[in-house]
Amino acid sequence: MLNRKILIYIFSLFVLFAVSTTAKTINVSVSGGTEKINYYEKDDIVYFSFSQFVELVGGLLDWEIIGHKISYKKDTTNLGFLIGSSYFEYYDNIYNLTYPAEMKDGQLYLPIETAVPFLDRIFPQKITWNKKSKKLRIDSEYFNINDLSISSKANGILIELFLSTALAYDVFVTEGNWINISVRDGKLNRTQILSRRDRRYMYDLKAHQIAGAAQVSIRLKTTVENWHHKIQYDPTRIQISIEDAGFEIEPSDTPGSIGPDDRIDVIVIDPGHGGKQYGAVGRGGTREKDVALSISKRLAKLIRKDKQFKVIMTRDRNETVTLEERAKIANEAGADLFISIHANSNVKRHVRGWNVFYLAPARNDSARAVAQFENSSFLRDQESSGKNENNDPDDLYNDPVLSILNDMIMTEFQAESQDFAKMVDKEFRRSLKIPARGVDMAGFFVLNKVFTPSVLIECAFISNKTEEKLLKSKSFQQDVAKSIYKAIMRFKDKYEQ
Ligand SMILES: [Zn+2]
Repeated sequence: MLNRKILIYIFSLFVLFAVSTTAKTINVSVSGGTEKINYYEKDDIVYFSFSQFVELVGGLLDWEIIGHKISYKKDTTNLGFLIGSSYFEYYDNIYNLTYPAEMKDGQLYLPIETAVPFLDRIFPQKITWNKKSKKLRIDSEYFNINDLSISSKANGILIELFLSTALAYDVFVTEGNWINISVRDGKLNRTQILSRRDRRYMYDLKAHQIAGAAQVSIRLKTTVENWHHKIQYDPTRIQISIEDAGFEIEPSDTPGSIGPDDRIDVIVIDPGHGGKQYGAVGRGGTREKDVALSISKRLAKLIRKDKQFKVIMTRDRNETVTLEERAKIANEAGADLFISIHANSNVKRHVRGWNVFYLAPARNDSARAVAQFENSSFLRDQESSGKNENNDPDDLYNDPVLSILNDMIMTEFQAESQDFAKMVDKEFRRSLKIPARGVDMAGFFVLNKVFTPSVLIECAFISNKTEEKLLKSKSFQQDVAKSIYKAIMRFKDKYEQ
């Protein structure tokens, strides 16, 4: 009897405990007021009630009990979750939350840290999560593509799309003189943009908010033959100039076939730095230029074994090679892929992990910092090798990153470069046992001059003691090389016609 009583007592304690854990709430600041939604923690992961979140932002949750499938619908947005699975569906794409969607007390719970960045992208509101203060913010009316202007100039038409911040973008022309500007992570102020419909210049104007991107399409009355685009600052805007017909310039919108032929068979490996330029140097004296060369040589060896490729290295020994020479080697070889190998460095010595970059305006400060370091080291290369006398070094030296961003960022192979970066990332995640910093974009000089899909890989942090050791070790170097080689095979499979 006594035992039974104790058991009941323990059981009721357990129930009390369970109830008290589900009752925990996080504050949600939404349109000036504060609301509360339930959350719980599991293995340090905060799960929030998406069901209650939906009550705040609107929309409908649809439960399919048998399949444990839950779909969320609002306007044209459609999300599909599966209880117990970290994967979810958005339009026709599958995304990963890292941690599974869970069901508790009849509510759908999602891991907040990985779900919020995604929700922020698909909802018109700005949604942010502050881990420290455990606060969720939902700010209404958040746009980063604010306005459009179109005007005539002496030699043609100027279109300007105004952004809150530099974002990766692409401009392409489709049949019927449609000029399309698609902006990654763009959030359109549709009302403002659509109000710019001007019959003098255009037949039609469209503004689409789509998965993780926004697109503005203008059907011009002018024949679009000669055009170019660039990003400008103060204010940040994408400029597209369309020249009047009559010029003898090749249209730049021919969909870029990669390399000179249909095959993906010429791989250019670019070991970072070299010669007088050490790149970053670790505390133990390891030099970036040396590890970059060792990894590059291992990669070249792997690819060469596979007789279907031709490998060209921008340097195969310890020598100074300028940025222009590196690009020239790649372009003259008719490269199908350009892979620049580096090691990262940070004043904070605990910072670890690898990063794969492709060329686009930097999204965040840490990506910008990496580009700044690599670019400035190229500028030093050029200065000390004295091969750049005609250029004004002061002008470039002021702010190398800004100067490249003010230049036209070459976006012709951006999609393919990003795709290849993701393939490298995927292979690294499988084989490297150091933290993944993932795929990022930034403005690297060396990539901007190469007319083929290209990435810059920061294999690990030479400034971190553990990773400095790894960078020197044969097994790590070989793992990096093998992963990149596998990514090249994937890329060949996908893009070879
Ligand atoms: Zn470097």
